[in-house]
Amino acid sequence: MAKSNRRNGARNDGAARTAAERSRIAPSPGPIKRPIASDAPVDPSSRPPLPTGTAQLLSNVEEAEFEETVRKQLQLMGEDPDREGLLRTPQRVARSLAWLTRGYRQDAWSAVGEGVFTEQHDHMVMVRDIELYSLCEHHLLPFFGKAHIAYIPSGRILGLSKLPRLVEVFARRLQVQERLTGQIAQAVCEVIQPRGVGVVIEAVHLCMMMRGVEKQNSKTITSALLGSFRDDAKTRDEFLRLAHGHE
Ligand SMILES: [Zn+2]
Repeated sequence: MAKSNRRNGARNDGAARTAAERSRIAPSPGPIKRPIASDAPVDPSSRPPLPTGTAQLLSNVEEAEFEETVRKQLQLMGEDPDREGLLRTPQRVARSLAWLTRGYRQDAWSAVGEGVFTEQHDHMVMVRDIELYSLCEHHLLPFFGKAHIAYIPSGRILGLSKLPRLVEVFARRLQVQERLTGQIAQAVCEVIQPRGVGVVIEAVHLCMMMRGVEKQNSKTITSALLGSFRDDAKTRDEFLRLAHGHE
């Protein structure tokens, strides 16, 4: 009995280690708390590193475990994971999924970096047609489309290239479009505390197009309005007109 308990203990330790390793890709906890002042330089060492490309993002242990799971999935689909074309598929899938969900290792602050500037500008700033690719959390199938983001500054502006990078942080996770829209708006608020923010996302979902209802041409449109974009009818109308406007 005692012997068996010790063995169980050892197994549990192993499991705990694996869990600790896995926690590196666990969803980052909800709201971003780190404060920022426009005149205070951000310490680069305080930010998580930004992974790039399709390099190995998982530890060897994690990758091996991931590959084994994909092999099992292939078998359950009725495939032979040992046939030539599938030999390296488990590794490719593991790396590809780690990359497609790399947003879990990033946050709004790592995305904006040094791109916050003090500026007295109190008109609407808008970036339209930001390409967006994400994975639906219900089917692990892609949804993709465009995001339109606008804000009215309150003493701080964002480098324009930072808005697409903010989109990436939250799109590269398992998502529903509604939450993604809100998280992007919230992130803009966190990093520059503007008077207001508006985000509109229009996207098509492969889980709708390829399976189930097979609605090939339907687009899902979501919006999130914060601050003056929610409270001021004129601002809201201007934003929605620009966001839905036709070139
Ligand atoms: Zn889905």
